[in-house]
Amino acid sequence: MSRTRTSLLAALALVAGASGTALGMQSASATAAAVPCTVDYKVQNQWSTGFTAAVTITNNAPAKSTWSLKWSYAGDQKVTSGWNAKLSQSGNAVTAANESYNGALATGGSVSFGFQGSYTGTNAVPATFTLDGVACNVDNGGGGDNGGGGDNGGGGDNGGGGTTGRVDNPYTGAKVYVDPEWSKLAAAEPGGSRVSNQPTFVWLDRIAAINGVNGGMGLRAHLDEALKQKGSGELVVQLVIYDLPGRDCAALASNGELGPTDIDKYKTQYIDAIASILADSKYAGLRISALIEPDSLPNLVTNAGGTNTTTDACVTMKSNGNYEKGVSYALDKLGNLLNVYNYIDAGHHGWLGWDTNLGPVAQEFYKVATTNGASLSDVAGFIVNTANYSPTKEPNFKVTDTVNGQTVRQSKWVDWNQYVDEQSYAQGLRDKLISSGFSSNIGMLIDTSRNGWGGTARPTGPGPLTSVDNYVNGGRIDRRIHVGNWCNQSGAGLGERPTAAPAAGIDAYVWAKPPGQSDGASAPVDNDEGKGFDQMCDPTYGGNARNGNNPSGALPNAPLAGHWFSAQFQQLVQNAYPPLS
Ligand code: BGC
Repeated sequence: MSRTRTSLLAALALVAGASGTALGMQSASATAAAVPCTVDYKVQNQWSTGFTAAVTITNNAPAKSTWSLKWSYAGDQKVTSGWNAKLSQSGNAVTAANESYNGALATGGSVSFGFQGSYTGTNAVPATFTLDGVACNVDNGGGGDNGGGGDNGGGGDNGGGGTTGRVDNPYTGAKVYVDPEWSKLAAAEPGGSRVSNQPTFVWLDRIAAINGVNGGMGLRAHLDEALKQKGSGELVVQLVIYDLPGRDCAALASNGELGPTDIDKYKTQYIDAIASILADSKYAGLRISALIEPDSLPNLVTNAGGTNTTTDACVTMKSNGNYEKGVSYALDKLGNLLNVYNYIDAGHHGWLGWDTNLGPVAQEFYKVATTNGASLSDVAGFIVNTANYSPTKEPNFKVTDTVNGQTVRQSKWVDWNQYVDEQSYAQGLRDKLISSGFSSNIGMLIDTSRNGWGGTARPTGPGPLTSVDNYVNGGRIDRRIHVGNWCNQSGAGLGERPTAAPAAGIDAYVWAKPPGQSDGASAPVDNDEGKGFDQMCDPTYGGNARNGNNPSGALPNAPLAGHWFSAQFQQLVQNAYPPLS
C-alpha cells in the first residue's frame, strides 16, 4: 500500500462527490410488497438535555427518486440540527426529506441520515414511521448497541464482548493477539526476539488470505490460536480489511487483485466470507479490531480531481463510487457483529493535516458511514499513520513555536500544516469528526510500528534559532527527506510498543504494519498478487508532486509489498525509539 498523498500546495476544498447511485426507474405497477419499508431509528448518544440519533430507511417498494419520512414524538423531543436529510418539525411531527444527493433509493436499498435533538423527561423511540405516506416496519435494533447515554463510561460497562455489546475502548484491560507467523520471522532476525512477542495486525490482503496463502494461516486458524492466547481474560484480535476494487489508486506498489468494477466480488467473496467466519459463535468472546481499507477514502479526497496530485485511477474510483460502496458495506456487515470494532483509516498528518483536507475528509467519512446501509454505530473509531513513518510526538518543536517572529508553519518541512505529529493530528481529527456528527465515543488508534526515529541520527534537542527552517530541520526527529515519502524509509526505527489508552481520545498505539514487511519492491517483480512497481520504492527515483519532487528515501533491494525484508527489519530494531532494552 502507499500512504502519503500530501496534497500540500493547492489542496482544494473538495465537497463529497455525487452519490453515484444509479437512479432506479420508478415502477408504475406498484407491486404490493408486504412491508414496503423498514426504519431503524437509533439513539446514538444521550445526555441530560439532548441526544443524537441515526436513522436508516430500507426501501422494499419500487425504486424512488425522492423520499420523505415522517414520524411523531410522544414526548417533547425537538430536532435541532441534522445531516444527510432536510429535517423540519411542526409540533410533535417531524419530516425528513432527502437531500439533492441521496434521493435515489433502489428497491432493497437503504439510506441513512442523522440529527441532534433536545428533550426533557424520557426520549422514547417513535412507534410509527411513514415513508411517502406508507407505514414502515420499525427496527430499533433491539437496543443492543446503545445504552441511552450510559455507554461512554470508560470501559467498565461490560466485559463479555460478543453478546452484550461493545465496550468503549476494546484495548482497555485486554491482551492483544500475537501473530505466530510474524513472531517467528521477527524472532529469527538478530535481536528480533526482543520484540517478537508484540501484537501486530493480520492483513487480509486478498480473498485467498481468508483461507491462508501458500499453506499459511487463514482467518479461522488465527482466531483459533487467538482463543488459546485469550485464556479466561479479554483479547483483541487485529485484522486489516484491505482488498477494495481498484486498490491503492494513487500508487502502484499495493495495487490488488480486484479491478475497479469488481464491487460485487468484493462484497460476496471477501467481506461476506470474512463476516461469516467472524460470526461463528465460538469467536463471540474475542474482541475484533478491524482496520478498514487503508488509504482509500483519503485518496478520494486529495487525489481524485482538481489537484496536482490527481491520478486517473483515483478519478475512476471516485466516479464509480466503488471505494465508498465497499467501505460502507464493510462497515455495515462487520458492524452487525457486536464484538467487532471498526476503525476507518484516516491517513496521517502529513497527508490530511491541512484544514483544506481535514474538513473534506471528515465529510467523506461521514457520508460513507451513513449511506449504503452503514450507520454511525458501525464505527468504533479511526486509525492514523497506518504503515507510515510520521512520529507519534515531535519532541523538539511545536506547531505554535515561532522563530524571529515567523511561525514554524512557514518552514519548508511543515509547509503550513496544522499539525507536526500524529498524536496531535489524531486528537484534532477526532474533535473534528465529533463535531461533524460522529459519536463522542469514537477512539483513535495510531500505528507506531515504524515511527520511532531513534539511533545515532536522532537530534537530541531543538535546532538553532537562526531561521524557521534551521530550527525545524535541526530538531525534527522525523529524518525523512520529505513528509510525503512512504516506501521503506531509510533511517526509520520501531516506535512506541503497542499500548492501551496512552492518551486522551486514543484507544491504543498499535503495530498495524508488521515491522519487516516491505512497502513495495525497489524494482519491478513479476507476481500474481496484482502488485505494481512504484518508483517511490526505488532509491534512485527523484520524486513526484506527492513528495514535492524529492528523492524517495527508500531502502535498496526491497522485495514486493508485504514480503519479508530482513534488512529493513534489522534497521528498525537498530533505530528503535524508545530503544530496546
Ligand atoms: C501490502 C500487503 C501486505 C501489507 C502488510 C501492504 O503494503 O500490499 O500485501 O499484507 O502491506 O505488510
